[in-house]
Amino acid sequence: MAVIGGGPGGYPCAIRCSQLGLKTVLIEKDRLGGICNISGCIPSKALISVTKLYDRAKDGAAFGLVSSGIKVDLPSLQSWKAGVVSSLETGIATLCRGNKVEVIKGEATLVSPGKISVKTSSGIEEILAKSVVIATGSRAMSLAGLEFDGKLVLSSTEALALAKVPDSMLVVGGGYIGLEIVGVYQKLGTKVTIVELTDQLLPGTEPDLVRVVQRNLEKRGARILLKSKVVSLEKDSKGGKVKAKVSTPEGEVVVEANAVLVSVGRGPLAGGMRLSEVGVKTDSKGYIVTDAQMRTSVAGIYAIGDVRGPPLLAHKASKEGIVAAEVIAGLPSAADWRSIPWAVFTDPEIAGVGLTEKEAVEKGLQVKRSRFSFAALGRALISGEAEGFVRIVSDAKSGLVLGVQIVGPEASNLISEASLAVEMGATVEDLALTIHPHPTLPEAIMEAAEAAAGKPIHQVKL
Ligand SMILES: Cc1cc2nc3c(=O)[nH]c(=O)nc-3n(C[C@H](O)[C@H](O)[C@H](O)COP(=O)(O)OP(=O)(O)OC[C@H]3O[C@@H](n4cnc5c(N)ncnc54)[C@H](O)[C@@H]3O)c2cc1C
Repeated sequence: MAVIGGGPGGYPCAIRCSQLGLKTVLIEKDRLGGICNISGCIPSKALISVTKLYDRAKDGAAFGLVSSGIKVDLPSLQSWKAGVVSSLETGIATLCRGNKVEVIKGEATLVSPGKISVKTSSGIEEILAKSVVIATGSRAMSLAGLEFDGKLVLSSTEALALAKVPDSMLVVGGGYIGLEIVGVYQKLGTKVTIVELTDQLLPGTEPDLVRVVQRNLEKRGARILLKSKVVSLEKDSKGGKVKAKVSTPEGEVVVEANAVLVSVGRGPLAGGMRLSEVGVKTDSKGYIVTDAQMRTSVAGIYAIGDVRGPPLLAHKASKEGIVAAEVIAGLPSAADWRSIPWAVFTDPEIAGVGLTEKEAVEKGLQVKRSRFSFAALGRALISGEAEGFVRIVSDAKSGLVLGVQIVGPEASNLISEASLAVEMGATVEDLALTIHPHPTLPEAIMEAAEAAAGKPIHQVKL
């Protein structure tokens, strides 16, 4: 069997296939780890974690941490980040070797079902495989007039690899990738303007969660233009500055910046897969259509990860890879995304799992909503990060946990307890009865559950 693409979808798929006794090749044209490891999840979170540390230390006098002139050396930070990326990449290669996955470095073309041609450094190699998994991922989309040039007009890949902190940055698109990168450069002193087409940042996310993040961005000086659009962009002749005309509800404004980050979404990357010639069905946006077992419309061809469509998340890609491997090996496996968590690594973080209140009501469920604010939690106060809250959406009659949303410190880590609750069909009573160590952030989940169960201790019962 053959897997095309060695990202977080493809390599776990190949490993699982091999573990299940299938002779497996993994074809990767670039570097093992895919977008996630090379220019996505890992590099962005590396920069986010260090700049957050810097920010806390810089303002540490409030809690008695007095530093004299701490500063960030961006080239050193970038080379540390590159070290993390390459050690993870080496780890993936070791795992493949240890699991007897043959890795072929080269660009694959799907010739026909079961037949792949690979362009390697030593020529064209032909591979015959009974099953083929397409795991080729996604690519950043550009906008007409705002084409990436890698110098002034950047995609997330270039924006995460800058060697010099830009004085000012225009961010086109208020989605999660843009906001995470804004958080990094804002902390390094860049003056930021965000232009978003819809009426809120992080479109599709519940507004009360987003408000906490927006407040923080604005407090740090970000200019946020909602319901707005860049209508033209002019680069100065020396290539160090842009002048953008932005149409806003209040009229046209001009924004000058030293860098433009265009993060307006991603689309499927299936070049070389010859999907229409081979007969693989795609949807209106070009994503490959599959069933819950990752089977495409062509027998023997499977698709997983970003190329199969949203949510474009690394852990979703990995899970789909494992499902595909198990299905190919004849096991009864299928995708069930009831409890797929998501996280946005803004400041503070936002995370969620399961249903929102609105989604639950739309399903005809009777819903109870309970919440607990980090402002009332010892550990959040100790950490100096007491903004935000945990909200639990539960079934009003049974107490079943339907969904959890968190905005606040370590939301991305906290959400896993909520995912387990949704996955296992836990009730708010189960969460409330679970003893949580003190003082810790997960206590906020217990407190919100106690409130839902009608027995709050650290908030007044309404
Ligand atoms: C800036 C940024 C931050 C992100 N942060 C997060 C995060 O914090 N958490 C999260 O869950 N997700 C995050 N994501 C999304 C995450 O990176 C993707 O969802 C994930 O990488 C998808 O995995 P994949 O295996 O489907 O595709 P990819 O990771 O894109 O891997 C596809 C691989 O296929 C290879 N390939 C493509 N075509 C061919 C071919 N013809 N022949 C051979 N090889 C080929 C590519 O070189 C690539 O290595 C982020 C994305 C970006 C851009």
